[in-house]
Amino acid sequence: MDEHIREIIDEATYDHLNETMPRIMGELSEFHELAGKLAGKVYRRTQAVKKHMMFCETCINRQMQLGLLMPIEEFYEQGQMMGMGRIPKLHYMVN
Ligand SMILES: [Zn+2]
Repeated sequence: MDEHIREIIDEATYDHLNETMPRIMGELSEFHELAGKLAGKVYRRTQAVKKHMMFCETCINRQMQLGLLMPIEEFYEQGQMMGMGRIPKLHYMVN
């Protein structure tokens, strides 16, 4: 039995529904499976976009302009506080 169905009905009711409305129940489980696959696709694409944005000069500059990233000085201060020192790649990209 599908996870989403099991949460709301017991086994006997599920069997009864399958007999009474087999088409709907079949489609329901089919669409549920599709929704799960789509959610996975959305997640993987979103991760790919986020990864691009972390390493793309254009995107980083856009985020800086929009105030979505902290100023580079603060970034360094924080890095030095955490003992990371300079992070030259980002420095060169935004200057
Ligand atoms: Zn980009």
